[in-house]
Amino acid sequence: MKLNSPLQAYKFLPGTNCGECGETTCMAFASHLIDRSLKLTDCTPILDDKFKKKYAELDGLLAPEIREVEIGVGDNIVKIGGDDVLYRHKLTFFNQNALAYDVWDTMDEADLVARVEQIRDFKKFYVGEYLLLDMIAVRSISGDPKKFADTVKKVMDTTDLPLILCSFNPKVLKAGLEVAGDKNPLIYAANKDNWQEVADLALEYNVPVALFAPNDLDMLKSLAKTFLEMGMENLVLDPGTFPTGKDLRTTLHNFLKIRRAGIAGDRDIAFPIMAVPLTAWMAHDDPVSASYWETVVASVFTIKYGDIMLLHSIEPYALLPEMHIRDTIYTDPRKPVTVDPAVNEVGSPTADSPVIVTTNFALTYYTVESDLSSNDIDCYIMAVDTDGIGVEAAVAGGQLTAAKIKKGLDDAGFDLKDKTSHNTLILPGLAARLQGDVEDEVGSNVMIGPPDSGRIPGWMETNWPPEKK
Ligand code: SF4
Repeated sequence: MKLNSPLQAYKFLPGTNCGECGETTCMAFASHLIDRSLKLTDCTPILDDKFKKKYAELDGLLAPEIREVEIGVGDNIVKIGGDDVLYRHKLTFFNQNALAYDVWDTMDEADLVARVEQIRDFKKFYVGEYLLLDMIAVRSISGDPKKFADTVKKVMDTTDLPLILCSFNPKVLKAGLEVAGDKNPLIYAANKDNWQEVADLALEYNVPVALFAPNDLDMLKSLAKTFLEMGMENLVLDPGTFPTGKDLRTTLHNFLKIRRAGIAGDRDIAFPIMAVPLTAWMAHDDPVSASYWETVVASVFTIKYGDIMLLHSIEPYALLPEMHIRDTIYTDPRKPVTVDPAVNEVGSPTADSPVIVTTNFALTYYTVESDLSSNDIDCYIMAVDTDGIGVEAAVAGGQLTAAKIKKGLDDAGFDLKDKTSHNTLILPGLAARLQGDVEDEVGSNVMIGPPDSGRIPGWMETNWPPEKK
C-alpha cells in the first residue's frame, strides 16, 4: 500500500497535537509528510519506543516507489530517483536528474584541470536561480589502475563535485576507490562478467554502484536482485543507451518498461536509471553531429526517466538546452515559481524614473527585468503578489487588482508622491482595464505600457517622461 492522503498518514501519528514538529496539529503534519516538505523524524514523540512499531510501518509506507540514491558528500551531494509517479503533473518529480560530464585518464594534466574547472564553474542565471552542472565522470581509457588513481586525485584536487568512477576492470575501480572511497562516488559498472568483484568493492567501500546490461532487462533485473540480496540498495540501472535509429526507440522502450515496473511496485527494479548520451560520440564521426545528437538523446531521456546522465560535450550550445529542459521538467508543478513581492530598483533610478508594474511570477518578472536592464533603463519594477500567476491570467482571475497594487506599494513603504516627481505607475498593456481602478485606489496617474516588456524601450522613447498635468 502506498500512502497518498494525509488522513492515511495521520492514523500512524501520536495524535496529541503537541506542536513539537512546528505544526499546530498532527493532521497538518501528516499533509506535509505526504508532500514531503517535512520528514517523519521531525515528529520527535513518534521516535519514542512505545511508537516503534507505528514508526517503522509509517516510515516504510512513506518511502518513495523509486529508491532515492545519494552520490557524493557534503554540500555538493547529488540525490537521484525518489519518485512516486510516472507523470510529473500527478505530483512532482522530486530530484532533478544529475548531469555528469566526462574526463579521462589519458588526458594531458593541464587539459584535465582546465576541463574540470570548466565543468565546475559553468553556471547560467535563469528565472532567479543559477543552473549548474552536477558531477564529473572519470573514465579509464588506459586500463592502468595507477593512471586512473592519479587522474581521480587530480580531479579531487580541483573540485568537490561528486564523482562517477568508470571502468569495467575491478582493479581500476579499486585504485580509484583507494583515492576517492570516502567521497561516496558512484562506481560504474557491474556487468554479467565482473559483478562479483564489483559487488565486493561496493560492499567494502559502502558506495553506490551502477549495474549495466545493455538491452537485456532480464539480466539487469537479475543483477539488481543479486545485489539486493547481498545487502546493497544504492543501485543505479543502465540498460544501455543506443543513440541512433531503431535502437534509440528500443532504448526508450527499455527506460519506460523499467520505470513503469518500478512505480507499479516491482522492488527489484525500482532504482534510478542511467542514460549515457555520450554514446552519440561513438556513432558520429563529425563532432558537430555528435554534440547535436548527444543533446537530443539527453533531452529525450531527461523527459523519460534518465535520473543520471553521462555526457561529453561541454560547449554552451549543448549545455544550455540540456539544463533548460531539465529545469522545465523538474520544476514543481504544484508551486508557481515566484519572486518576493517588492518594489525593486533596476540600475540607478531617480525621482524622475518610471515605476513599472508586473506580477511576482518569476518568469514574467525576470523577463521584464532583463528587458529593462539590458536596455540600460533606470527604473523601479514593482512585483505584485499574484500568487505567482502571470499578468493576463491574474487580471482575469482577480489576483492582480487595484487593491493588490495599493497593498504592494504600502507593504514596500513606497510612497509614489514622496519617491517620484511624477506620481505615475505604468501598468502592463495586458492589465489596461485596471487603469481607472488603480488611479482611484492608489491616487496616482496610471499609464498603460506595451503588452510585452520587449517593447518597453520603444514605448519609452515616445511616452516617457509623462506630460505634466
Ligand atoms: S510532533 Fe508529532 S505528535 Fe506532536 S503535533 Fe507534530 S505530528 Fe503530532
